[in-house]
Amino acid sequence: KAFEDSGFSVQLMNAIKKQGYEKPTSIQCQALPIVLSGRDVIGIAKTGSGKTAAFVLPMIVHIMDQPEIEKEGPIGVICAPTRELAHQIFLEAKKFSKSHGIRVFAVYGGMSKLEQFKELKAGCEIVVATPGRLIDMIKMKALTMLRATYLVLDEADRMFDLGFEPQIRSIVGQIRPDRQTLLFSATMPRKVEKLAREILTDPVRVTV
Ligand code: AMP
Repeated sequence: KAFEDSGFSVQLMNAIKKQGYEKPTSIQCQALPIVLSGRDVIGIAKTGSGKTAAFVLPMIVHIMDQPEIEKEGPIGVICAPTRELAHQIFLEAKKFSKSHGIRVFAVYGGMSKLEQFKELKAGCEIVVATPGRLIDMIKMKALTMLRATYLVLDEADRMFDLGFEPQIRSIVGQIRPDRQTLLFSATMPRKVEKLAREILTDPVRVTV
């Protein structure tokens, strides 16, 4: 298997090569064709598997496929349990978005809300966030979910452990139902399985 099999643009292939990614990892081999086909996915995978690129690369394709419309707010929304993970995802997303003129912004606690508000107001296509701070920003009207069509819940089991279920449900409830939804988790406890059944449409399950 090769990245070329995914039908990525020359521009995206160049960005992948620049990172020194020679071939897709196991989770990428399994998930890329399904995610690129537009289907919802449940990915059972841990950090270190290359799961971030498995949802970030199709997100770039998804955003580049959108018509230029005068709407505000991110197209891709990624929720993660901790600021550390959100920051790592932010860095990975930046590697591939920069050359496409796609703006990525990270939103998590520990930073000034006013600063984040101002930066979000300037606009972005991808937002990577911890659930609590994202809700704060939506409440402050720093951004809307009106344009969002690609949602990723990363490390869903850890988000549940940290008590973020209500925040996740609130965020998902603000994103149009015809979105593409991806849920990644290291384990699938019953509560996460239940959420997946409720918010994903006919998902394909991939496991590494
Ligand atoms: P992740 O599991 O997404 O946190 O990724 C773990 C590490 O693997 C990160 O440093 C990625 O930049 C790197 N990585 C992801 N995909 C590939 C690949 N196909 N080839 C080499 N390294 C990769």
